[in-house]
Amino acid sequence: MRIGILGGTFDPPHQGHLSLAKAAIDQLQLDEVIFLPANRNPLKARSVQTASKHRLAMVDRMIKDEPQMSYSDMEITRGGSSYTVDTLGELQMVRPAEYWFLMGADSLRGISEWKNPIRLMKLCRLGVAVRPPLIVADVLVKLPEEYKGKVDIVNMPALDVSSTDLRGRIHRGQNVSPWIKPEVLQYIQTNKLY
Ligand code: ATP
Repeated sequence: MRIGILGGTFDPPHQGHLSLAKAAIDQLQLDEVIFLPANRNPLKARSVQTASKHRLAMVDRMIKDEPQMSYSDMEITRGGSSYTVDTLGELQMVRPAEYWFLMGADSLRGISEWKNPIRLMKLCRLGVAVRPPLIVADVLVKLPEEYKGKVDIVNMPALDVSSTDLRGRIHRGQNVSPWIKPEVLQYIQTNKLY
């Protein structure tokens, strides 16, 4: 089995996440992509984040028509700070497979600061896509030599969108329909998020 893991805060989940998952399924010939909402990202400064049950519910709604996509609450259930290396270690034990951890180029740029990146890259490969303003090739050039062979580039159209921008747009009552699925927007409105 070839499985992609898309970790993130998903506060809220948006078209950038979906496009990355779709492109990775096609180009890396993945059987499945598992969305993995973090309990807490130790590298994100924002102290207040939307309750995990809402973030899970939004991911559930976004991927409901995507047969090759699923999600897991394992980081939320584990609690505390979410470290990808721990999650991949656990996954390789309970469900051994070939794993790709999927990410935008912004995440790859910061990978040296993650917990035990060398071990992480023994547990999985990385599938990395453009994340404006960063393109993968530019980030790769600056990456430590030992990481470079672990990266597979995932080509997708550049989508300059982030959860941070979308929270702001929703808060201001602006249109977010190009990036957020109607089912997810409905959930946001019903639960008065953002
Ligand atoms: P925030 O604005 O709150 O930091 P975000 O939009 O970056 O959120 P996350 O849930 O943190 O969303 O992202 C999870 C993963 O998805 C990260 O690896 C990130 O690089 C990637 N990603 C998010 N948006 C895009 C996008 N527009 N294009 C490519 N990759 C993306």
